[in-house]
Amino acid sequence: MDNAPGKKMLESAQALIRKTAEKMKLDEETIKRLIEPEFAHEFALTVKMDNGKKKVFKGWRIQHNSALGPYKGGIRFHPETIREEVQALATLMSIKCAVAGLPYGGGKGGIVVDPKKLSKTELERLSRAFAARIAHVIGEDVDVPAPDVNTTPEIMSWMIDEYQKIKGFKSPATFTGKPVSMGGSLGRTEATGRGGLFVLQALLEKLAKEGQTLTVAVQGFGNVGYFFAKLAHEAGFKVVAVSDSRGGVYNKDGLDPVAVMAFKRKKGVVSGYSGKKVSNEELLTLPVDILVPAALENVVNEKNAAKVKARIILEMANGPLTEEAYLALSKKGVTIVPDVLANSGGVTVSYLEWVQGKAGYWWSEEEVNAKLKEMIVRAFTAIWDKSKEKKMPLKQAAFEVAIERITSAMV
Ligand code: NAD
Repeated sequence: MDNAPGKKMLESAQALIRKTAEKMKLDEETIKRLIEPEFAHEFALTVKMDNGKKKVFKGWRIQHNSALGPYKGGIRFHPETIREEVQALATLMSIKCAVAGLPYGGGKGGIVVDPKKLSKTELERLSRAFAARIAHVIGEDVDVPAPDVNTTPEIMSWMIDEYQKIKGFKSPATFTGKPVSMGGSLGRTEATGRGGLFVLQALLEKLAKEGQTLTVAVQGFGNVGYFFAKLAHEAGFKVVAVSDSRGGVYNKDGLDPVAVMAFKRKKGVVSGYSGKKVSNEELLTLPVDILVPAALENVVNEKNAAKVKARIILEMANGPLTEEAYLALSKKGVTIVPDVLANSGGVTVSYLEWVQGKAGYWWSEEEVNAKLKEMIVRAFTAIWDKSKEKKMPLKQAAFEVAIERITSAMV
């Protein structure tokens, strides 16, 4: 299937790396090494369906760059995924891991499948078939997969079980995002939202805005958006709007995200909770201090960028701003915290899960949260300092810091 967004995503990731590397005056062969994946495994998986018939699924594991350490990245199950999309995501994982200061390169996996159309037993057989196929090219010191779109801790438990059976030994650090009972880390579920809040607080300290009551609108009320909103509310921010795929709610006096979630569990939607109903489009242009797109890509684009009133945008989703919107808003002086930094709390706690798995030593949730804070604030500070030193926006600074770190480890 032609998936234009996946191809566009790859083109823009590669163009951004090339542009940054050229500005840094890197030679052409180094730029090629930063752009081309080291390995691209492509395979057909045959799975026996419940009706007894066999079905073939297409899949990939793309290992982009291993200069800083083993490849790291999720596996997505999606009917429209294509090789270019998986490659783009692997490339961006190399950048994100370097930005976060982790000893990892970037990787990503994908299977073309709509998991909603599979029974649970079919899903398990497909997950095990994928793990068996990649077993000889992954490992705790080679490539460490994790969940991504439509893959869960339970799917990771099937994959690691299959992997360990094939290898004949236990290796809990080969997959992250596992259930806690199988060596998953405490704090992983909330990690992306929590990391985003730590980055925001560190930014406000630099902007001398800490201690003020700032208003926040959050688009998306799933894993990332909900925990971000909940923790931001607890930290004293005034969360005035939240939304899910069916629309949002705005209350200028503030919302309690826990109460909104209780309402959503009962009614299936956030819209209708006490306040004004707003569309997802309206939420993006509300008069707030901070806008947090935490749902989908390309939601802030050339059509609505001029109407955005927030002075700070925290990119919690992957790629929520188009290139045009990013340029227009940066020009207006809006501070945009790029996704590779803002949502790196998830992969940072995956790293902490990996360390625990390798050491066989388990940390409390408080210890995990404290380590996440230390690591993500350190990552933010390096990018902030670079952006001040070079007078460049945070996104450009993040790519430059990442490329410096990757190339300094390339021999
Ligand atoms: P999720 O599936 O848990 O939640 C997604 C939320 O977005 C849901 O509330 C859904 O209702 C809402 N949504 C869907 N379509 C929408 C629309 N058209 N308008 C507004 N809201 C809509 O997903 P998630 O794990 O929270 O991920 C959200 C984003 O964050 C994605 O871009 C993902 O790639 C990125 N991300 C997630 C993690 C993680 O640890 N989960 C880490 C890094 C990046």
